[in-house]
Amino acid sequence: MEFTTRDARSRKSNGLWEFSHVIATIAGSKLADLVQNPRSLSHLKQTSAVTVMVVNIFYANPSILPVHGFGYLLPRTIPFDQNPEQALGVVFDSDASIGQDAIPGTKVTVMLGGHWWDNLQRFPDEVQGARMAKAVLKRHLNIDDEPQAVSVGLQKDCIPQYSVGHDDRMEKVHFGLKNDFSGRFRVAGSSYTGVGLNDCVRAARDVVGGLIYRYGRDRYSGLDSFEGGRRMVWAPPEGLKAVEI
Ligand SMILES: Cc1cc2nc3c(=O)[nH]c(=O)nc-3n(C[C@H](O)[C@H](O)[C@H](O)COP(=O)(O)OP(=O)(O)OC[C@H]3O[C@@H](n4cnc5c(N)ncnc54)[C@H](O)[C@@H]3O)c2cc1C
Repeated sequence: MEFTTRDARSRKSNGLWEFSHVIATIAGSKLADLVQNPRSLSHLKQTSAVTVMVVNIFYANPSILPVHGFGYLLPRTIPFDQNPEQALGVVFDSDASIGQDAIPGTKVTVMLGGHWWDNLQRFPDEVQGARMAKAVLKRHLNIDDEPQAVSVGLQKDCIPQYSVGHDDRMEKVHFGLKNDFSGRFRVAGSSYTGVGLNDCVRAARDVVGGLIYRYGRDRYSGLDSFEGGRRMVWAPPEGLKAVEI
């Protein structure tokens, strides 16, 4: 990705696409490698991310769960000997989609790895992942049935970890983006202002709102809430106000 001072419309020229603005929503650490002048983005490389194995399981029995709700997460304090599969949690997907499935049954998702797999070079394969997930469900929920379908996916570096100093680093990236790209290059997504879906949707809304309404500033970066060491949220343009949180 190369930035020029030329006024650009979305068009292809010399085999390259030119855009007036770019909003990047990929992982910050990867983004830092894609940009030709990475000075202002180098701090993004310091945000590490954990790898999670996601095991989606379908049982024919619609009443296999002993309890209902979102599911559960396993705190870090659970020691390895009580969590040899290195599980992070179980989501009861059927409970989130009641009345929406075409056939009766129970869907669950077992998440494995995360912090347990920091510095791991080789990850379990699909067969091992399915076996570990079934062992978790047997021990926690007493589920002994054979599933009708299992899908195992390894999501490498999928959840960024905000370590001490994250806000300071994001402020530096914010000023770098503003100064080097004058508002033409902005970021949103889980590497910056929160990893939850709601955070990501909010970030997307804000960065697009910044393009449309400008919020009184042209050199918006998507990381404006870090400026001055204060996290702020932007109110709608009709009642422009910064609210400290
Ligand atoms: C297992 C798991 C469970 C989770 N559970 C919850 C939950 O219960 N509640 C919750 O709120 N959040 C949850 N999260 C977090 C949340 O889902 C994510 O943080 C969020 O979806 C990230 O959104 P994003 O748009 O930043 O990134 P993504 O959704 O990862 O989107 C980034 C996109 O960029 C694409 N991409 C990457 N590199 C390039 C490239 N070089 N060129 C072009 N495209 C590229 C990718 O293919 C991807 O489509 C969970 C995350 C995981 C992994």
